[in-house]
Amino acid sequence: MTQNSFEELKKKAQQFRLDTPQDRIARLQKLLNWVKTHEEEILKALEADFNKPRFETTISEIFPVITEIKYAIKNLKKWMRPQCVPTPMALIGHKSTIRRENKGVVLVIAPWNYPFNLAIVPLVSALAAGNTVVIKPSELTPHTSMLIHRMAESIFSLDEVRVELGAKEKTEELLQYRFDHVFFTGSTTVGRIIAKACADKLIPTTLELGGKSPTIIDETANLDEAADKIFWGKYLNRAQTCVAPDYLLVHESVADTLVQKIRTLSAGFDKENKGRIISPRHQERLQNMLNSPVDLNRQTLELVEIKNTSHPAMQDEVFGPVLPYLKYKNIDEIDAVIGAYEKPLSFYIFSNNKTRVNQILNKFPSGGVGINSVLVQFGNHNLPFGGVGHSGSGEYHGYHGFLEMSHARAVIESRYFSFMRKILMPPYSPYKYKILDLIKNL
Ligand code: NAD
Repeated sequence: MTQNSFEELKKKAQQFRLDTPQDRIARLQKLLNWVKTHEEEILKALEADFNKPRFETTISEIFPVITEIKYAIKNLKKWMRPQCVPTPMALIGHKSTIRRENKGVVLVIAPWNYPFNLAIVPLVSALAAGNTVVIKPSELTPHTSMLIHRMAESIFSLDEVRVELGAKEKTEELLQYRFDHVFFTGSTTVGRIIAKACADKLIPTTLELGGKSPTIIDETANLDEAADKIFWGKYLNRAQTCVAPDYLLVHESVADTLVQKIRTLSAGFDKENKGRIISPRHQERLQNMLNSPVDLNRQTLELVEIKNTSHPAMQDEVFGPVLPYLKYKNIDEIDAVIGAYEKPLSFYIFSNNKTRVNQILNKFPSGGVGINSVLVQFGNHNLPFGGVGHSGSGEYHGYHGFLEMSHARAVIESRYFSFMRKILMPPYSPYKYKILDLIKNL
């Protein structure tokens, strides 16, 4: 991308400041129409990239994008309306309003694991907030990235939305520009690189990162339900999901039964109908987590019992079809394990003991939580989606995404009692000190 192209995006973002809701809805509607009429191409691209089953592409890439766009279209008028807020007594005579204004040019850097969803949902938030956008999709999913490129070219002008293809070097090149916001989804390691580059230019960021998301299963849990949900949450996308259960902490009295149930589900599944581990490098990384010659390409899910966090599968986010589990006797034992890691993106609890669920919720922070539920917190656009600490900062989806990509501009207008200004002006007479005392005690 040239400096000239960037200037064009900036110029257009300046024009977008005059947007009516209808202008933004029209842009989102074009996107919606394109997705609806290109479902087959999307399915094929994901199949070509990592053999993603059509069912999974539909539920995790196409459907969430469509619902996100429809939701934004439906609510945009309300979201864009300036919001009147109360004014404190001490500022009597003023009217206070929050205007949600566009930020300008937003850079969206997307990962490979949900290559359509994680490029387009941030695009929806950015467009809803009236920004112009540059998308840098992942180099590891070339078919989907090319499709996103073709999509942008066919429905937007290059100063509205442009797609820049490439790998690390492309991101580095793009980060030379003074974007108004950078929205990054990917690993914590690369997130740190992006945050540093942005800090240098004081560019605000949203960081959607990863981490080790624990799943606790206590002795009161419904084991059939837990096994189904944990298996599904891990199996989806060939177990390459940021919010997937990373490891299990399971009460010793139910551990063998639960693990057997998950193994049975795993063995019974159609092995042809599953995605690929994205690259030989990723395959090797996962293989190194196992002390056995299991072929992860053939195995649906490999459950490994671990005794402590020194196991190779507990050094980093697993992000693949390996599921470490650790048995505990006393619930307090989980503290040391969870405490050994940074705050995770997700946290799952399977239990029918409400008091315990609340205790666990209060004790351990995370980006999001599922109680007797896995993964679906990602699917409700009324909930903010994002990490905390090392699993990310900022959030999106629905209104939260609109807010993230907007600037909340404080506007205060003096309307009545303008004589009150005199109180603030020197000389600071004893009479004024008396008024100050009165105001302080209001
Ligand atoms: P990644 O961090 O390797 O790559 C993400 C993006 O950054 C890609 O577009 C890539 O081209 C670019 N990139 C890679 N290395 C770079 C570098 N050195 N400098 C600049 N740019 C670089 O992530 P990935 O492998 O594509 O995705 C997997 C990771 O993403 C996992 O850790 C997972 O948990 C996380 N993730 C998080 C979320 C979330 O919503 N929080 C969603 C999906 C994936």
